[in-house]
Amino acid sequence: MVAGVVSMQEKSLLKVRAAQEGQGRIEIDGVSIVFGSGATATTAVQETSVSISPGEFVCILGPSGCGKSTLLNSVAGYVTPSSGRVLVDDELVTEPGPDRGMVFQQYSLFPWKTVHQNIAFGPRRAGYTKTECGAIANTFLSMIGLSKIADSYPGELSGGMQQRVGIARALANYPRVLLMDEPFGALDAQTRLMMQESLLSIWSEFGITVLFVTHDVDEAIFLADRILIMSASPGSVIADLKVGLERPRLPEMATAPEAVELKKKCLASIRAQSLKAFEEVRR
Ligand code: ADP
Ligand code: MG
Repeated sequence: MVAGVVSMQEKSLLKVRAAQEGQGRIEIDGVSIVFGSGATATTAVQETSVSISPGEFVCILGPSGCGKSTLLNSVAGYVTPSSGRVLVDDELVTEPGPDRGMVFQQYSLFPWKTVHQNIAFGPRRAGYTKTECGAIANTFLSMIGLSKIADSYPGELSGGMQQRVGIARALANYPRVLLMDEPFGALDAQTRLMMQESLLSIWSEFGITVLFVTHDVDEAIFLADRILIMSASPGSVIADLKVGLERPRLPEMATAPEAVELKKKCLASIRAQSLKAFEEVRR
């Protein structure tokens, strides 16, 4: 377990503000996303509808260029659907907001701020007092096992460490949902596995909805309750697979018959889509 020891008081702070009962429902309703216009128009996402329940861990899986990031960005509010709409807890998404925490593959920390200041930044903007922000940052630092590096600068940390700070920073805004775009894609295999386990323990602590983009089948099976497979460009969800493996997940579950069967299904589907994309480029 990577996460640090959390005191009872800190736990209640996390629970009271973070896992607000029943929050974090995502409704992607008939969304199409077209970039550009005329002859150069690219349809990145085509007619996609998905409902995600509060507290679910959902992975979006698909070949490169199929529209995973674009779809995730529409939930984050960075991209506006050309048609259809995205709702989070029945509120129309029109712009980015701290209620939807985002973690990217490239660590997007402020390099001139310490780890503690990075995490306290969101709460400070939300209007908490300096003392409250300090307490919130400390809570999340200890939860994610980073108290010892509170005063370090991002440039002094490994990729895995920076990504943990990125997750803590997103969570310190008490978001309704956590949106993650291939967050562990740049990490080595060993660190990646530790990060996956750490994320699952945070997720079960918080009960927060996670929408996680990956092109890695093993990662999707290890993490998710549900895997949404996207077709090759223009992307839409072509399969919605339940991952029935019990929790807590353990690395050795990867060889359980159910996991192997699911992996075969995912790989076949992705391979078909990748081939299709490849053929389209050649045509
Ligand atoms: P993925 O994350 O699955 O690799 P993306 O969502 O990044 O795929 O991209 C899907 C498609 O949309 C690609 O063809 C990509 O070139 C195109 N695309 C993404 N963002 C933009 C943009 N801002 N302007 C124009 N085209 C874009
Ligand atoms: Mg992407």
